[in-house]
Amino acid sequence: MKIYNTLSRQKEELKPIREGEVSIYSCGPTVYNYAHIGNLRTYIFMDILRRVLKYKGYKLKHVMNITDVGHLVSDADEGEDKLVKSAREQKKTPWEIAEYYTKVFFEDIASLNIEKPEIIAKATEHIDEMIKFVEALVEKGYGYEISDGIYFDISKFKGYGKLSRINLEEQIAGARVDVNKEKRHPADFALWKKAPKEHIMQWPSPWGMGYPGWHIECSAMGMKYLGDFFDIHTGGVDHIPIHHENEIAQSEALLGRPAVKYWMHGEFLLVDNGKMSKSLGNTYTISDLRAKGFDPLAYRYFCLNAHYRNKLNFTWDAMKAAQTSYDRFLEGALAHKNAGKTEDGKIAPEVIADFDKEFDEAVSDDLNIPKALGIAWNVVRYEVKSAELYELLLKFDKVLGLDIDKAEEKIKKKENIMEELDPEIKKMIEERQKARKEKNWKVADEIRDKLREMGIILEDTPQGVKVSYVDRK
Ligand code: AMP
Ligand code: ZN
Repeated sequence: MKIYNTLSRQKEELKPIREGEVSIYSCGPTVYNYAHIGNLRTYIFMDILRRVLKYKGYKLKHVMNITDVGHLVSDADEGEDKLVKSAREQKKTPWEIAEYYTKVFFEDIASLNIEKPEIIAKATEHIDEMIKFVEALVEKGYGYEISDGIYFDISKFKGYGKLSRINLEEQIAGARVDVNKEKRHPADFALWKKAPKEHIMQWPSPWGMGYPGWHIECSAMGMKYLGDFFDIHTGGVDHIPIHHENEIAQSEALLGRPAVKYWMHGEFLLVDNGKMSKSLGNTYTISDLRAKGFDPLAYRYFCLNAHYRNKLNFTWDAMKAAQTSYDRFLEGALAHKNAGKTEDGKIAPEVIADFDKEFDEAVSDDLNIPKALGIAWNVVRYEVKSAELYELLLKFDKVLGLDIDKAEEKIKKKENIMEELDPEIKKMIEERQKARKEKNWKVADEIRDKLREMGIILEDTPQGVKVSYVDRK
């Protein structure tokens, strides 16, 4: 199969270092806030990569970190630690903040059918490995001490900028004016920060009490679990110019050669064609999707319609369309299941083999999931309904992760959502039923209109009242 390597800017044949096994490191979340749907798009990309590799028969060794210390407000090492800032704002300890948002992160990714990597590495549990790494860099002359920490001397590392293809002059131009005057080069980055007394998260080190820089976390943990040469490193495109450039500098300075064979990056999710930002109020989360009646998997489905290297624009209208399309997809899959194995439903083996081959080719071509999803749709729409095609869809779903095997219960649930409704809403529906019985049409209609405004649709059918969400109609 072929994958796109950001380092070479080319699709390359995947040739794993160890036959039959692929080692992957994915930059994980900084757990100081809820993950937004943009962050989650990057983890859906990571998940698709995992699933395709397994589909192709590879064994996986996959590490994802949890950054629970050391990620400063600016990626370029300026400002406060994000965990410390969030803890101060929420009047909690940084440990409590990290624990809470880590828990929610795993719930969120589970709701999107994102598989958990084999190894989850918390930064705070690997401080020793990071200190040893920094010590080795200082010994080799790449790290130097100034009053607030240990920094990496990027002008000593000749390959600096090779991933982002930015040269050092541009890095200087891009650096902020108010940089630390003690640094040898404006773009030198912190390997270790010395902590003031009041700083809550701090550990003893050869340079006094302090905490690790964000970039060293990933280099140290990747090396610990995957060795000093592994196959694939993933992250979002925003990591290319600073975080991953710095990881390359640290690891290659230590080893004298590359530590990673292929670098893969997921493109950004835009919202209303722009950046998500708190001030615009458009940093949506999984609970925002749920509150509007969307199934998190409809968001996964939405993401699968774009290639991971293309930008994707989120709007609520597009989300509605994705939910409708996802519902139809499941209904179509169910029609194949219900056809059973009758003579009428017999499909020529070549038809199945062709679909199978096309799907395999699509996913093997740098994870062309939009194409693979199109092929799955061709199976769903196939004029003859057949249980064999349902089996084929279940096989494809190992990559797609759209819960095709749960289609029946999902559709049923959608048809009648009474059970999952708020007690308050249930009460309103009951009141309306009572008003209708008493032929008090005015009150009944008023309640119905009010519910509609709240996103709930009522339909009176011979079997009783049918309840659904506005967004799903
Ligand atoms: P963070 O927790 O801030 O380190 O971000 C977690 C992941 O989300 C990183 O891999 C980022 O590259 C990625 N990311 C941040 N914003 C977006 C976005 N708008 N679209 C896609 N990925 C994003
Ligand atoms: Zn990282």
